[in-house]
Amino acid sequence: MATVQLVNVNKVYDGGVHAVHDFSIDIKDKEFIVFVGPSGCGKSTTLRMIAGLEEISYGELYIDGKLMNSAAPKDRDIAMVFQSYALYPQMTVYDNMAYALKLRKVPKQEIDSRVRAAAEILKLTPYLNRKPRALSGGQRQRVALGRAIVRRPKVFLMDEPLSNLDAKLRVAMRSEIVRIHKEVDATTVYVTHDQIEAMTMASRIVVMKGGFIQQIGEPNEVYRYPNNMFVAGFIGTPAMNFLHGRVERGCFYPDGSDDKIKLTDEQIKLLANYENKRVVYGIRPENLIYEKDERFAGLEDFSFSFDCNIVEKLGDIVNVHGTLGKDEVIVKMNSKYAVDGVTSVRVAIDTEYARFFNESTTNAITPERNAYEEAEVAVNPDEEKVVIVQPEKKGFFSTLIDSVKTKFKKK
Ligand code: ADP
Repeated sequence: MATVQLVNVNKVYDGGVHAVHDFSIDIKDKEFIVFVGPSGCGKSTTLRMIAGLEEISYGELYIDGKLMNSAAPKDRDIAMVFQSYALYPQMTVYDNMAYALKLRKVPKQEIDSRVRAAAEILKLTPYLNRKPRALSGGQRQRVALGRAIVRRPKVFLMDEPLSNLDAKLRVAMRSEIVRIHKEVDATTVYVTHDQIEAMTMASRIVVMKGGFIQQIGEPNEVYRYPNNMFVAGFIGTPAMNFLHGRVERGCFYPDGSDDKIKLTDEQIKLLANYENKRVVYGIRPENLIYEKDERFAGLEDFSFSFDCNIVEKLGDIVNVHGTLGKDEVIVKMNSKYAVDGVTSVRVAIDTEYARFFNESTTNAITPERNAYEEAEVAVNPDEEKVVIVQPEKKGFFSTLIDSVKTKFKKK
């Protein structure tokens, strides 16, 4: 059993870099949490604060409900696996895995059973007597995992453990780690800059940018309902298309286009506060339907044309790149469509997968956010929107208010 809870955790490095801002999450027992985001967004710093390798500037960290802010790393019952797995070259695989337990004076028999059990899980049993130099990259990384597994920690922390492996091995190791996690059944926090690793491995993803959490959610949730334009652009390849434009009388008018894109009833309701205002229409490359596709029929009103300039052939699919006004557009389509040499492409939007964003805040427009914004305006009306209701008859209160007003004017 191990839960990990971070409550408004912050890191301010000496010199003033505020690397992590108010990081809060409740990690449940046996979850596989992936921190993902571009380089420098604070993923490793957060992981290192959980490990105790970096001090928490303020905020709280609990492991299994116990406050851990000032516990030494060795007292946190965690094991960390890094990108560079320094194995002892002169020791066998068996001894590499047994080493930490020997240091902890674990009885020999116990060490033996733990090492053999880990080797089984990691499919390393045939290699126990080999030295690291006689292993492949993937096998070495599994030994590094084995060293963590034999310690039976409450929590595994992994910092980009696959980034030194070649592309093919990374894919293989991704599913290996997922399988190992299932067998070991321990709470895991995994850091990566690779959104595909996050999507394929995580039970929940934490997307970070500039030290701030952008969204926490299951992979499909983050992919389907991104919280803002950053998440929408970061998760998924090729990235989501963003069409800038205006909402007017049930249609979206993309900048630099003669087309108007019809809005569905549901979308009209969602965008009720945006009439005659600018919004960003988000749609993923895989949710645009080429006009020669039979699914296009009946979707004419939801379609637009764009100038196409590059056709990227990937075997079964092609990515057609182009522009609409100043916006880039990418469409993922079946390679059976001959789009070579075509300069203008018409596509329809599969509206079920559309996501709208507020152009100035870049946040997704959702019914919840609309309700929140309306409530906020009601509580904090700005001056222009204040309606002063004049009382019909002058009663006690209005006379009082008038006299206060006159006093203020005099001052
Ligand atoms: P990530 O793991 O997402 O690439 P890091 O957590 O390593 O990001 O870094 C987050 C930010 O903190 C970066 O701006 C980085 O330059 C800064 N940073 C990291 N370590 C230190 C340090 N020891 N001293 C000062 N700033 C640091």
